[in-house]
Amino acid sequence: MGYAASSPNKQSKQERCSLCGRVFNNAEDLNAHKQLDHSEHSHEPAGVS
Ligand SMILES: [Zn+2]
Repeated sequence: MGYAASSPNKQSKQERCSLCGRVFNNAEDLNAHKQLDHSEHSHEPAGVS
């Protein structure tokens, strides 16, 4: 989706899940992972499109 041509000069900051230690390329993936794999508020659909 948001994958444009990654510029070589831009250091990609990796986001690490503090719950399971998985590493993601961006905060969006991390947040999505948390909601999917660590859904603490499963009864609270927050903007599921
Ligand atoms: Zn995790």
